[in-house]
Amino acid sequence: MQVRTRFAPSPTGYMHIGNLRSGLYAYLFARANGGRFLLRIEDTDQERFVEGATELIYRTLKDVGMNWDEGPDIGGEYGPYVQSERKDMYLPYAEQLIKSGHAYRCFCTREELDERRAAAAARGETFKYDKHCMGMSEAEIQAKLDAGVPYVIRQNVPTQGTTSFTDLVFGTITVNNSDLDDSVLIKADGMPTYNFANVVDDHLMEISHVMRGMEYLASTPKYNLLYQAFGWEIPQYIHMTPIMRDAQHKLSKRDGDASYADFVDKGYLKEALINYVALLGWNPGDDREIFTLDELCGAFSVEGMSKSPAIFDVEKLTWMNAQYIMALSPEEFTAHGEKYYAQAGIAHMDKAVLCKILQQRVRVFNEIPDMVDFLAKLDEGYSIDLFTNKKSKTDPEVSAKVLDMVIPALEALPQWTETAVHDTLINMAAENGMKNGTLLWPVRIAMAGKAVTPGGAIEIALLLGRDEAMRRLKLGREKLRQK
Ligand code: GLU
Repeated sequence: MQVRTRFAPSPTGYMHIGNLRSGLYAYLFARANGGRFLLRIEDTDQERFVEGATELIYRTLKDVGMNWDEGPDIGGEYGPYVQSERKDMYLPYAEQLIKSGHAYRCFCTREELDERRAAAAARGETFKYDKHCMGMSEAEIQAKLDAGVPYVIRQNVPTQGTTSFTDLVFGTITVNNSDLDDSVLIKADGMPTYNFANVVDDHLMEISHVMRGMEYLASTPKYNLLYQAFGWEIPQYIHMTPIMRDAQHKLSKRDGDASYADFVDKGYLKEALINYVALLGWNPGDDREIFTLDELCGAFSVEGMSKSPAIFDVEKLTWMNAQYIMALSPEEFTAHGEKYYAQAGIAHMDKAVLCKILQQRVRVFNEIPDMVDFLAKLDEGYSIDLFTNKKSKTDPEVSAKVLDMVIPALEALPQWTETAVHDTLINMAAENGMKNGTLLWPVRIAMAGKAVTPGGAIEIALLLGRDEAMRRLKLGREKLRQK
């Protein structure tokens, strides 16, 4: 059997993490089994149509390297791959079900349904469509059709017996048919609902493995009844557990949880995101954690999929992102960093030095502006207490002496290079019998105005450039004199 999986997102305007994971697992499963991965756009809910949403889906998948073998933009033998373009294909199938008694037309208006729903609620029951319109005679139906009364087509679910299906992760699940409701298959506007379109399309597109979120697990018996009614082969099901923000809450864009694009905007690397998302509900069976997309394709298997919900742990993602950042080449680091250097007002500074002081510290690129705020602007009101440091054996008095020595020596330098600045400072410490730290601490504090900085005195001096470095050193000396 040829493995064929599909990612079937609705164009909502963003890609949430759960969506991305559904697509990723379908992609990985296809790749791991030499199969084909399809992209199908499920846009039958025209009210929810969002301009540009389909492009966002393409862009995101391409961005992370999840290339599809068939899809709206590249075509394929089973097209069209956009449900609204398949609109006319569904109705004949629904009519076939009407003929065979597996579906029926329902003319109930929204008001009538609301009334019956309210009455059921008053009786303390949950409303389930009562098959009211199944009682209509042929003549009654024809009269309504002739009069142009709008209708929907509903699935006629048996009221007795049970329906079972097998999920490759959850095993065999059996439900009482009496617990299922007669879902709408075709809406009054002629568009299919998800409940119908997924079955027709998965069949016509010869999907071998239907991989999707757990929210569809409860409806799967109804889908099986449809496959059976048509006499179609039932696909293999693989449902995925939800991704949770915490033990109680599902991750949700509506509740403010970040989407894929939000994380990218914050400065998470797409490779790290994909790697982390892959581990939300799957594990390789050993303690490996870092995977490229190619490696995931080789390692993925349904056996490693989890039956319990995954918790989205931003800290863990952030740790993973840091691993990916550390592994970048200096050029790559700089390319990612540019945007944040511009934000921080340090785009003119030496990129090689910035990379040297930041790459091993930054966990997410948007941390950069806060880390380097002092480079763009010195907080001149810093406290001279910062000049005191036990380990470096400095205090304001020692610091004043150090700055008195350092300032003329640096000022006299013919060139402001790393070697020149470094050698001057280090030789001066040695000549005066000082620890390097005793000399470097006050220099760094005067230039940064804060205790914790990425990079040391020499790197900061190079980044600031001679004029600004000297200005800050002199200001530090002033502050110490005034105390
Ligand atoms: N359009 C559905 C969604 O975005 C897809 C579900 C499925 O994969 O069948 O949730």
